[in-house]
Amino acid sequence: MTNHALPSYLNSEDLGPWGQYLKQIDRVTPHLGSLSRWVETLKRPKRILVVDVPIERDDGSIAHYEGYRVQHNMSRGPGKGGVRFHQDVTLSEVMALSAWMTVKNAAVNVPYGGAKGGIRVDPKTLSKGELQRLTRRYTSEISLIIGPTKDIPAPDVNTNEQVMAWMMDSYAMIEGNLSTGVVTGKPISMGGSLGRREATGRGVFVTGREAAAKRGVAIQGARIAIQGFGNVGGIAANMFAEAGSKIIAVQDHTGTVVHQGGLNVAELHKHVAETGGVAGFPGAEATQDRDSFWGIESDILVPAALEQQITAKNAGQIRTKIILEGANGPTTPEADDILNDKDILIVPDVLCNAGGVTVSYFEWVQDFSSFFWSEEEINARLTRIMQDAFNSVWEVAAEKKVSLRTATFILACSRVLAAREVRGLYP
Ligand code: GLU
Repeated sequence: MTNHALPSYLNSEDLGPWGQYLKQIDRVTPHLGSLSRWVETLKRPKRILVVDVPIERDDGSIAHYEGYRVQHNMSRGPGKGGVRFHQDVTLSEVMALSAWMTVKNAAVNVPYGGAKGGIRVDPKTLSKGELQRLTRRYTSEISLIIGPTKDIPAPDVNTNEQVMAWMMDSYAMIEGNLSTGVVTGKPISMGGSLGRREATGRGVFVTGREAAAKRGVAIQGARIAIQGFGNVGGIAANMFAEAGSKIIAVQDHTGTVVHQGGLNVAELHKHVAETGGVAGFPGAEATQDRDSFWGIESDILVPAALEQQITAKNAGQIRTKIILEGANGPTTPEADDILNDKDILIVPDVLCNAGGVTVSYFEWVQDFSSFFWSEEEINARLTRIMQDAFNSVWEVAAEKKVSLRTATFILACSRVLAAREVRGLYP
């Protein structure tokens, strides 16, 4: 049903990622009981900032880029979520990503709302100096609404520790104080946390191990196909390979490489570092075209790239037992139905990839207290939080007879809306 009271860009008829998110909210609403009175809150971002980011290019010309910071919900705490630099970033995408952060942070019960940022730029076209100027100007533009107790950015697609260091420094210069807690995912040398870089991949592995145990799939010897070989897919590949799984296929933006006996993951990382992608990896026994990647038979499939990759068009081809959503929003609602009908167990993004923001939370806590924990302690706490969240979701799914996605949304949205209700409206 089209809600004519909604502004046009909030209409679920528009099938961008925001439309995908609105459909997920429609699916959870019947399960929210009396809290459904507040559900409209989740269908509108609290605040959207669109900024012009001009920089001087190395050749002396001036280039303008479009930047965003969306604060979807702050009922449970300050905004939290990454910053994405990608040529296809749109407002609809950043809105959806910010909303998924609200759900994710509530699902693992870290005391944050949800936010996200992005710049519509291909960072590969910029020099290091240009990238620094872009990052600093963007930070200055959004400094109006970010801060250690207001909204805390972090890395996402194509942003890293260096970008976070520039963001922190720019904010510190504007504010006139150190402000390490304004961003997470920083270098260790300036308030970053041990284990943060690996945290998202580690969380994917931990939830994958739980899901595999429920489904009777042995991690040792499991055949794993991964889309995306960056900070999420690449790290998850390391951890599964260490646990004795076989990484039989990897796809990234450059191509798809396959080895039924298991790709040598360490060699593949070296190849990617040298050439920029998996294409041409000499250790592969075969390559595939982009679309047939989805038809490769596996035990576990890990989409760890961008959203809307698994759609009604390719979901029917998928032959796997478990899907671990390392990416945000990789599966459209239509594909979700097809996969559920095929009895494929999907660990949804808002649970599966929450390890990153969980260790971001540890980083923020460490920055506030200026007391830093050991890597062992961080990994142990992360593992416990991910296992507990998985088990709570599993119980809700069993009790309500719904998918893990809907169960995660039930748990998370109830937490957000309970906070909303008890706080009430101001003024
Ligand atoms: N960008 C990551 C995500 O999508 C991490 C966000 C954070 O650490 O704040 O969950």
